[in-house]
Amino acid sequence: MSSLQDRIVQFRKMASDDADNELGHFRLGQLLTEAGDHAAAVTSFERTLEISPGFSKVFQLLGVSQLKLGRKDEAVATWLKGWKVADERGDKMPRDEMAKLMRENGATPPEPAKAQVEDGPETGFRCTRPGCLAGKRAKQLAAPPIQDEVHQRICREICADCWNDWFKNQSVKVINELRLDLSSDFGQEEYDKYMFEFLGFEVPAKA
Ligand SMILES: [Zn+2]
Repeated sequence: MSSLQDRIVQFRKMASDDADNELGHFRLGQLLTEAGDHAAAVTSFERTLEISPGFSKVFQLLGVSQLKLGRKDEAVATWLKGWKVADERGDKMPRDEMAKLMRENGATPPEPAKAQVEDGPETGFRCTRPGCLAGKRAKQLAAPPIQDEVHQRICREICADCWNDWFKNQSVKVINELRLDLSSDFGQEEYDKYMFEFLGFEVPAKA
């Protein structure tokens, strides 16, 4: 297992080799935050947002880094901007996190837009993924994609649309853009982190 500093070196290289790779900059920012280098994390998160302005979670993390640097007004402005992006995209989890951060720092978050009216028959299954657009029409997977604990949980909590979006679109993007080698522990760990993040599961603490 590589140390935090090794990972930072690895992702710094990735971010400079492939300067338009938003996932590389995003992950570098997260690792720099973990290492307590908030000034460098701000730069990485800002770069991520230049490439991918709809990546709402990044506003949340950027604001936290700005706050750690004592730039509270900037942090609140970042969260407000991010809150609007998240609300528009239906990214409920980052939106509510940013509302909480704004309140904790003496600002008043806006009111969420009214939930969209959903048509089509109700299926009785609710998908827990933040940003899931299926609503009451969410369909459950017929069976866990793989017979392990995580995928059984996915089958219980995540709808087929969200799983297919992850599996057919997002996971391919993560593997390609981060050039993950899934035969290595490092590659597998990074892959899992993105999958958990996408599904709205808590990322398990490292053993
Ligand atoms: Zn869903």
